[in-house]
Amino acid sequence: MSVEEILKLARPGSIAARTSQASGAGKSKPAKPRKAKGKKGVVLFSGGLDSVGLAILAKRQGYDLTPVFMSHRANVGNVTKKELTAARELAKRATGNTMVVFKPKAKRLADWYGPAVQYTTRLPVPAKRKNWRNRIFLDVLKDAGLADGIVLVGVFGGGERAAQAGRASDVSKKGLSAYLKKIGGKGTVLTAEDFGTRDKEAVLRAVGNRKRTRELLTATESCLMYFAKPCGNCWSCVDRAEAFQAAGWEDKTGYRPKSTAGRLAKG
Ligand SMILES: [Zn+2]
Repeated sequence: MSVEEILKLARPGSIAARTSQASGAGKSKPAKPRKAKGKKGVVLFSGGLDSVGLAILAKRQGYDLTPVFMSHRANVGNVTKKELTAARELAKRATGNTMVVFKPKAKRLADWYGPAVQYTTRLPVPAKRKNWRNRIFLDVLKDAGLADGIVLVGVFGGGERAAQAGRASDVSKKGLSAYLKKIGGKGTVLTAEDFGTRDKEAVLRAVGNRKRTRELLTATESCLMYFAKPCGNCWSCVDRAEAFQAAGWEDKTGYRPKSTAGRLAKG
C-alpha cells in the first residue's frame, strides 16, 4: 500500500472511505469482515522489543495499524539499510501491514527539529529538544494526515527515570495525548498501559513464549549505540536482557560477549 493510499484511508470523508461505505450493502460479492470502527491507525515502529511486542498485542485485539518508521538517529546520523530491512520485515509480520518510512531530507529536518539542524545531518535533534522525540514524531504524523486515528506509541509512561531526564511528557500517555490535541490531531494515543504492560518483561509475558512470537521478539534490537552488534552495556540493552531473563525466555541476542547483557544472556 502506498503512502497516498494510506493517507486517503486516514482521512474521514475521503474518496476511499466513501467508496467503501457505499459498496458495503446489497452486493452479491461476500463482504470482507469489517474491523471494528475506530481501530485503524498507525504504530510508531522502531523494530525494537517494545514496538514489535505492542504491535503484536494490538493486532490480536483487532487493531489495524500501519507501521510508521521514523528514519532518524538522535545521536549518530542515519539508520543503515540493514536496520531498515530488519524493521520492515518485523513490521510486516507483527502488524500484517507494509511499513511506511518517513526519511527526512536535510532541508526537511530543519522543519522537524528546528533551525539548528540546517547545519548538519549528523545530529538531527538540537540539544534543547532532545527529549521531545515522540512529540516531534506526532508533529510529523499530523503533517502527513496520519494523526486522526489510533496512534500507538511504544512507551511505558513517565516514571522516575523519565522524570529525571525531563522526558515525562514525551513518554506518558497523558502528555502525548495532550500534545496531539494541542497540535490539532483528532486521533487517540495508545501506549503500553493500554495493553496492561508496564515494562519489557510484561510485554514478553503478554505476547507469550510461542514459536512465532519468540522468533519475532528475539529478532528485535533495542540498542541505543548502533554498533555492528548490540553493545550490551547501554541502558536499553541491559533493560532488554533483564526482561528476557525475568520472563524466563532464552536470550539469543548477539550482544558483545563481555558486556553486561552478554553475560546475562549466557546465564
Ligand atoms: Zn546497547
